[in-house]
Amino acid sequence: MKDCIFCKIANKEIKSDIVYEDKYVVAFPDINPQAPVHLLIVPKEHIESPYDINERNKDIVGHVYIIIKKLAQRYGIDKKGYRIVSNCGDDGGQTVMHLHFHLLGGRFMTWPPG
Ligand code: 5GP
Repeated sequence: MKDCIFCKIANKEIKSDIVYEDKYVVAFPDINPQAPVHLLIVPKEHIESPYDINERNKDIVGHVYIIIKKLAQRYGIDKKGYRIVSNCGDDGGQTVMHLHFHLLGGRFMTWPPG
C-alpha cells in the first residue's frame, strides 16, 4: 500500500533492523521502545487493523502468535512472560494503520494500561 510506513519496511523500501522474516510477516524493533524487548510483528499483507481480520485473512493471526512465541524464546522473555498488544483504531491508540502486534517484555507489565 502506497504511503504505508510498515508496507515500506516490509518491502525494504525503508531500511529497518528486521530480526525475523518469512513469507507472511516481518518483525523489527519498535523505534520508540516501551520495554527492554519491544518488537513489532507485522503481516506483509496490508491489513489496516484488527477490525479488518476476516474469514479470508484470519490465519495470519495464529501464525503471528507462533512467531511471537519463537521470538520470546530467542529474546529470553518466554519464562517470565511478556505482553502482546494490538491496538485498534483511535480510541485503541493505533497510530500506524497497518495491522501489527507489539511484543513487550523484559520488565513487569502493569495493568490497566493507560
Ligand atoms: P500503534 O501506536 O499503532 O499501536 O503502534 C505503532 C508503533 O510503531 C509505535 O510504537 C511506534 O513507535 C512505532 N513506529 C512508528 N513508526 C515507526 C518506524 O518507522 N519504525 C519503527 N521501527 N517503528 C515505528
